[in-house]
Amino acid sequence: MQNKKRIAILGSTGSIGTQALDVIASHPDFFEVEVLTAQNNAALLIEQAKQFKPNAVVIANDDHYAQVKAALDPLDIKVYAGENALASIVQMDTIDLVLTALVGYSGLKPTIKAIEAGKNIALANKETLVVAGELITRLAKDKGINIYPVDSEHSAIFQCIVGEFQNPIEKIILTASGGPFRGKKREELVNMTKAQALKHPNWTMGAKVTIDSATLMNKGLEVIEAKWLFGLKPEQVEVIVHPQSIVHSLVQFEDGSIKAQLGLPDMRLPIQFAMTYPQRLKSNFPRFDFTAYPALTFEKPDMETFRNLALAFEAMQRAGNMPCVLNAANEVVVSEFLKDNIGFLKMSEVVEQCLLKMDFIANPSYEDYVATDKETRIKAFELIK
Ligand code: MG
Repeated sequence: MQNKKRIAILGSTGSIGTQALDVIASHPDFFEVEVLTAQNNAALLIEQAKQFKPNAVVIANDDHYAQVKAALDPLDIKVYAGENALASIVQMDTIDLVLTALVGYSGLKPTIKAIEAGKNIALANKETLVVAGELITRLAKDKGINIYPVDSEHSAIFQCIVGEFQNPIEKIILTASGGPFRGKKREELVNMTKAQALKHPNWTMGAKVTIDSATLMNKGLEVIEAKWLFGLKPEQVEVIVHPQSIVHSLVQFEDGSIKAQLGLPDMRLPIQFAMTYPQRLKSNFPRFDFTAYPALTFEKPDMETFRNLALAFEAMQRAGNMPCVLNAANEVVVSEFLKDNIGFLKMSEVVEQCLLKMDFIANPSYEDYVATDKETRIKAFELIK
């Protein structure tokens, strides 16, 4: 039997993390859990550690350290706390693959540390590539490691280009469900609440990405993520709205041929492929039935109503630290929207203002990204007050 693949899951108690553990639980001969980490959810982290017996866990919020330590010490599981522990644990010798399922900017530093230690990455934390795609992809190349996409659209493209490595991509077409407010106009969006925005028609996901789906920022972030993952020029990335979320994305090659990857919206499939590539393991996920979906439809995204998508394209074109500005401003407005502090349309207004007002840096260093993130957050809060 082959050696088991030893996995570290950063963010194991979130939506992606828990589904990754589902996948691992159904293939115990293939995987071994080496590290689990959580931000705040100590109770679930303890439960997961008892089931999967990792070598070590990290609870990022050290208020919960004593609780986790008391529960796992008798089981011989090492317990660490704090953000710095997260950045060092990913470098453990016994890890083969790091699944980064953290939310937002917080994923950047541990991802850099993991790549520096030569670990392959299963990337669910798209913000890492949005913020610092140039730095991350250069580092990955220097270290000779692979970044396997977990995002369903990017997994679709990755699956389409398997076996096509010599063949240049003409363009990629990312599909978007359109979110819960597809077809609505600005006047209708003014009073949309958090409860309405959190009701995604096809996908069950964490709060941040669900709000990003409602504003189309999620697709904007994915456009930038795709550019870096597949080494494309901005004009090679397109978005098409596909409300059924069955075609997960498409690749057009230089002969005009288009390949698509299809399936039911179920994140376990892309998660599993990112962890098993180049193999496909047998799964019992529900199968797609064409007769249940007699019509798959496609339409142009409404970028006037959903400004965020246009702003993301603009940030990608301007490049430098502008995608980092876009992301930082967006993280602030989404968290303020989730606290009912700002309205739905105010989100893209603040992002747009930040893109106009922050200083442009053409070739940012890691320190520049850190400073841009910090300063943009301050600016976004000023604009909200
Ligand atoms: Mg996606």
